[in-house]
Amino acid sequence: MSIKENIEHFRQKLDGTNAKLVAVSKTKPNEDLIEAYEAGQRDFGENKVQDLTRKSEELPKDINWHFIGHLQRNKVKYIAPFIHLIHAVDSERLLVEINKQAAKHNRIIECLLQVFIADEETKFGLSANEIKELVESDTLKELNNIRITGLMGMATNTNNLDQVRSEFAGLKQLFEDLKSNTSSANIEMKDLSMGMTGDFEIACEEGSTMVRIGSAIFGARNY
Ligand SMILES: *Cc1c(COP(=O)(O)O)cnc(C)c1O
Repeated sequence: MSIKENIEHFRQKLDGTNAKLVAVSKTKPNEDLIEAYEAGQRDFGENKVQDLTRKSEELPKDINWHFIGHLQRNKVKYIAPFIHLIHAVDSERLLVEINKQAAKHNRIIECLLQVFIADEETKFGLSANEIKELVESDTLKELNNIRITGLMGMATNTNNLDQVRSEFAGLKQLFEDLKSNTSSANIEMKDLSMGMTGDFEIACEEGSTMVRIGSAIFGARNY
């Protein structure tokens, strides 16, 4: 199937769920993104600052760019002028830097906190307790140029679908807990970014509001 057909296929699949499609275009050339754009796709996810800034310069200005990778503090300045949503914030120090760069551009940058839900050593993210500490912290309350709009998580890469489901369910529970129990001017829990090509159906069933789909739209990646 073509990229255009894949986009249409996902639009149908997600119709009736609460989830919005973020097309993960990392490593893919501009023409692939343009094909998706012409099929109506406006939200794209990238995980390398350099690729993201280049694509944002070369491609249409009404694209919503999502940063989905691990973001280094010294690179925040390059994406601060235009980034739509940063999905994987995993420290207070990073939030402080995003706030500082957002202020320079007179913007409020929306961020998701990355929660570590997988049974794997390699993935980034905070534990549920660390998230709770962070949202209560005095430092956070002072950051007027960021807004925390939700959580992001990646399930374990396994064929055990019960495990994947319970990891997503746990993330949803934390999301609901924070939604009812935190009150800070810069926190508004509305986005739950979970689900990729291999597990988006389960993620949607467990309450995802944003799925990040790469290979099922653009084909396998050659790194
Ligand atoms: C690459 C990536 C995706 C997309 O993965 P696919 O399996 O190709 O859909 C989603 N989320 C993150 C954080 C990624 O790095």
